[in-house]
Amino acid sequence: MRTFTKPFTQQEPLSEEVIARAVEVMRTGRLTRYNTLEGETSDAAMLEQEFADYLGVRYCLACASGGYALHIALKAIGLEQGAPVLCNGFTLSPVPGAIHNAGGRPVLVEIDDNLKLDATDLAAKADESGAKTLMLSHMRGHICDMDAVMEVCEERGITVIEDCAHTMGARWKGRMSGTFGKVACFSTQTYKHLNSGEGGLLTTQDAQVMARAVVHSGSYMLYDRHLAVPDAEVFAEIRLETPNYSGRMDNLRAAILRGQLKHLDENCRRWNVLYGTLEQGLCKIPDVRVPERPQHEEYVGSSIQFSLEGANEHTMHAFIGECGRRGVEVKWFGADEPAGFTSRFDSWRYIAGVAELPETRRILRTLCDMRIPLTFNEDDCRQIASVIREAVEALRVSS
Ligand SMILES: *Cc1c(COP(=O)(O)O)cnc(C)c1O
Repeated sequence: MRTFTKPFTQQEPLSEEVIARAVEVMRTGRLTRYNTLEGETSDAAMLEQEFADYLGVRYCLACASGGYALHIALKAIGLEQGAPVLCNGFTLSPVPGAIHNAGGRPVLVEIDDNLKLDATDLAAKADESGAKTLMLSHMRGHICDMDAVMEVCEERGITVIEDCAHTMGARWKGRMSGTFGKVACFSTQTYKHLNSGEGGLLTTQDAQVMARAVVHSGSYMLYDRHLAVPDAEVFAEIRLETPNYSGRMDNLRAAILRGQLKHLDENCRRWNVLYGTLEQGLCKIPDVRVPERPQHEEYVGSSIQFSLEGANEHTMHAFIGECGRRGVEVKWFGADEPAGFTSRFDSWRYIAGVAELPETRRILRTLCDMRIPLTFNEDDCRQIASVIREAVEALRVSS
């Protein structure tokens, strides 16, 4: 039996350059971002400016996590208590969690066979619920038809917040992911595209929204120590009516991220080489289907999804077990019981009257998911595809 031995959860170590800078920051002892000397700019402020430049937007805020960024994005756009918020039926649990945390009511929208938000169902759910906010997850890096989704939203006056946890560095029709909606949120948690353990980045072109986000994040009245923020007058208007939800990023994590940001595009290319190799191998296996990716979607293949066509629940369990015994860690978002990072929409029971999503349920029933850490090489990807082929064949023999 062929087995694979590398772990799917091992990211690359931080570079010596990044480590050296982190040590320098620790030697200063000035770890909280507002602890600066006269005339000094903090690493957190520098990171924000550098990320805003990278994305080509005016404003950026670094904060405690991606989920926290989503939470304050909703508060910063002025979400009212109990207001409905549209979001993907297939996403990670911090997304409905952020909506709940901001006092909103998640309204789940169907996905299609290529894992993208279904624009037709979006329109229907928007009209039914009267929602004026969409939290759009580019889940697992699959960018939906942005023309169609933005048209549905513009027609109805819906404000879009993009969840770019899996699309940092990606583009759609040449435009950076995160520049379509009013606000974009990114995660720098270890398994995303930059790694500071935990962390989040929020970007926008809207001065009011940014000022609110900064004050929400716990800037006290020290917002003038930021770089990628609007003028003081904008803060003056909102500073006393905006609660402090304390969730800052510190200088140590910011320093770690600044060094990595320089290599982001290069790493995106490396991810796509690995993704391409895996995709090629998986496509050749009978009954295995890899989602189609439109030509104008410049994705970052930091994970791969595939479905085991026609499999029932029993076969799925057997397949995941078979892969696991051969060292290939396959995750399944369709299981009845949430496991690890995966959970299906019907396990978010705090959502009052959570609707059934027949399409999303059908798609998740056979959908497998794998991380692609950069510690893998092309040969590893070929081996993984072979292991999956053998696992599929073993099931066919036994059934
Ligand atoms: C990781 C993730 C988040 C939240 O990020 P954290 O930094 O872990 O809070 C949000 N959305 C998606 C789709 C994610 O994968």
